[in-house]
Amino acid sequence: MRRIVIIGFGPVAARLIEELEEPLAQSRVHVCVIGSEPEGAYNRILLANLVTGHSTPQDLDLACDETNFPEGVTFLTGTTLSDISLDGQYLHTTDDRLISFDDLIFATGARAVLPRVPGLDVLDTDPCHLDSIPLPGVHPLRDMSDARRLREVVETGQDVLVLGGGILGIELALNLAEHGVQVSLIHRGQDLMPRQLDPDASRMLAHVLRQAGIQVIPGGINGVRSEGGRFTGVVLDDGTVREAGALIPAIGAQPRTEWAKKVRLPTHRGILVDHQLRVHGTSNIYAIGDCAEVLCSNPVCPECMAIDYQDSAPSGLIGPGWQQAQALADILDGTHNRVPSQVSQLITMKSQAVSLTAAGSVHARAFEQPRVDVATWEDPRTGRYLKVVSRDRNILGFVALGAPEAGAELAMLFERSGAAPGDPSVLLAADTPSGADTAPELTPESIICRCAGVALAPIQQAVSAGATTVAEVSKCSRAGTGCGGCKDKLESVVSQAMAA
Ligand SMILES: Cc1cc2nc3c(=O)[nH]c(=O)nc-3n(C[C@H](O)[C@H](O)[C@H](O)COP(=O)(O)OP(=O)(O)OC[C@H]3O[C@@H](n4cnc5c(N)ncnc54)[C@H](O)[C@@H]3O)c2cc1C
Repeated sequence: MRRIVIIGFGPVAARLIEELEEPLAQSRVHVCVIGSEPEGAYNRILLANLVTGHSTPQDLDLACDETNFPEGVTFLTGTTLSDISLDGQYLHTTDDRLISFDDLIFATGARAVLPRVPGLDVLDTDPCHLDSIPLPGVHPLRDMSDARRLREVVETGQDVLVLGGGILGIELALNLAEHGVQVSLIHRGQDLMPRQLDPDASRMLAHVLRQAGIQVIPGGINGVRSEGGRFTGVVLDDGTVREAGALIPAIGAQPRTEWAKKVRLPTHRGILVDHQLRVHGTSNIYAIGDCAEVLCSNPVCPECMAIDYQDSAPSGLIGPGWQQAQALADILDGTHNRVPSQVSQLITMKSQAVSLTAAGSVHARAFEQPRVDVATWEDPRTGRYLKVVSRDRNILGFVALGAPEAGAELAMLFERSGAAPGDPSVLLAADTPSGADTAPELTPESIICRCAGVALAPIQQAVSAGATTVAEVSKCSRAGTGCGGCKDKLESVVSQAMAA
């Protein structure tokens, strides 16, 4: 029996265990998973719902435990490593266990990046030790304990500052504002989400956020204030002090590569793996999820040659992580599989108040480049903004803000390399109050749940096979198990399939 040890027990490790169900049932493998958090694996994406009191920890639980895997899996939570020997094929845990392995898998995820400013001592201690909070009241939202602490602040009705105008910070600010929290968003630089949005789209987004009750503060912070060992406010770039009950840094995530580095495995931003998820230069060590950077060492791999090394990084998204877990289960079980190095650059904001989908390169301006067509439409009154950049009708990039139907159609065309409509303004019709009937028809291949990569066909099959509720459809198809952004669409296609 092969002994598989997984370091890290997040949603990607949980998916790997689920995918190993058959070899586990046939006693071909034994899995030991080691997680430093006290909880078992949970859906990290939905942590903001805990802060707002919208969900309970049970709602996020991925049910990857002894009840569902009574045989063949040892679950060790609330512990971490004290030592690894790759040559000896064993590791020690901090609670004094000695664990041997045939295959070792890093699924250590990522940690939130904290601002390095006066008043906030981000300790440069041994990074192999568990995270500690630099100052009570300053909590990135990365794990359950962060969510619990932020919930306490929110319950007392204190103001919250979110630092970082990327998608994570904006989603978080919107989520808090929707639940009545007084929230301000501090963002260094001219534009929100500058990598994904052109300046006009950023301005429209800032306008929409203000309408949602969020104060957008341009500039950064250059200090943190505290009293009695607790955060009380920040010093903004212009020297003014902004008081608040909590600061949520949302300025990025850093892959957790510390143990890989300690045992001299190759790393760049993440742990470097090939298309079979094997760490470069090893035969039985793998990495998956937020800590894994798929960039093979084959100098003539056309896929990896197209990637600029400086831009290469783990995707930081659940969809590619789950795809890797599925592929690795096959590989560990002796079946060929491979994962791509490049993942879709499509982003979708999960917020009830604001719909935003964007992809590709959107910074081109009209008349700037030969053969590149740029169509833009904006309406500050409704907060709608649509931009489509194409060359010979191939979509190079798009932004759809406040236009969910147009966003869904463009996302599908972008991912399938479909042709942009000759007149992109037709896309707007489906998002007007009278235009619901003009929404493009779904095909069996239309992706409904982007996180789990589930199209319409398996959802219809689940209903034909007897599923009668969205929860049952989710259970058998996995649709809706990620960020929850597809909830409305899923409900609608399930009720249509049941009525058919
Ligand atoms: C607030 C928030 C919102 C998000 N929203 C989205 C979204 O909308 N869409 C999307 O696609 N993605 C989103 N993400 C990202 C998504 O959650 C990650 O892609 C996903 O969690 C990656 O899973 P993972 O298992 O690779 O790593 P993680 O979820 O980071 O889990 C890794 C686990 O390993 C543990 N660990 C690390 N080192 C050790 C060690 N040495 N010993 C033992 N245990 C260890 C960690 O404590 C952690 O529990 C969001 C993330 C956050 C925080």
